[in-house]
Amino acid sequence: MKLLISSNNRDKIKEIRSIFQLPNVELVTLESIPNAPEVVEDGNTLYENALKKASMLYEFSGLPTISDDTGLEVDALNGRPGVYSARFAGENATYDDNVEKMIREMQSVSIKNRTARFRTVAVFYHPDLLIHEEGVIEGTILSEKRGIGGFGYDPIFYVPGKKKTLAELSHDEKNAISHRSQAFSRLYKSLLKQLPSITDIN
Ligand code: IMP
Repeated sequence: MKLLISSNNRDKIKEIRSIFQLPNVELVTLESIPNAPEVVEDGNTLYENALKKASMLYEFSGLPTISDDTGLEVDALNGRPGVYSARFAGENATYDDNVEKMIREMQSVSIKNRTARFRTVAVFYHPDLLIHEEGVIEGTILSEKRGIGGFGYDPIFYVPGKKKTLAELSHDEKNAISHRSQAFSRLYKSLLKQLPSITDIN
């Protein structure tokens, strides 16, 4: 059986490949699906966006599909930017634009009120089987960038247990604790339990 990963992000694909080693399941990426549609992430929740990405790609390819959506929830900003994390500083914002805006908005917030978390919702979609799982990592927002690894908000997301930002961790160290790897590990375990029904799918 083929399982499609609905993402163009190389880091995500590498991470998912290392988690998803299901017997008799071949993982394929969007590169092998010519003219795959661009999915507009306009849902109100992470789940809606992840489900949209997976179901649209299923409709297009006919392959069971996995996808995810992630948001950064900052307590001092009442949970913002959340589902709007990619567009925090505007429609075409770069990672740097978003980080700079976050630093500015958090300028007057005391250290103890800088708590935040990354949340990922991962989805498996097939008309006969829909599964979703969540992963969360807790941390605090720093007032300046530290580290050059990772992407997005990683340089200002400090993980107390590691005494480092996510951008100061190696790729493997981040993947061992990240919101996304937790969500996909849970999705993998749920899929394994359903394996007989999955392999019947195509
Ligand atoms: P998406 O779910 O990959 O589309 O993520 C939405 C936005 O959240 C991205 O544009 C990044 O700004 C941010 N983001 C997602 N995952 C991470 C992460 O692991 N570290 C830092 N930022 C992330």
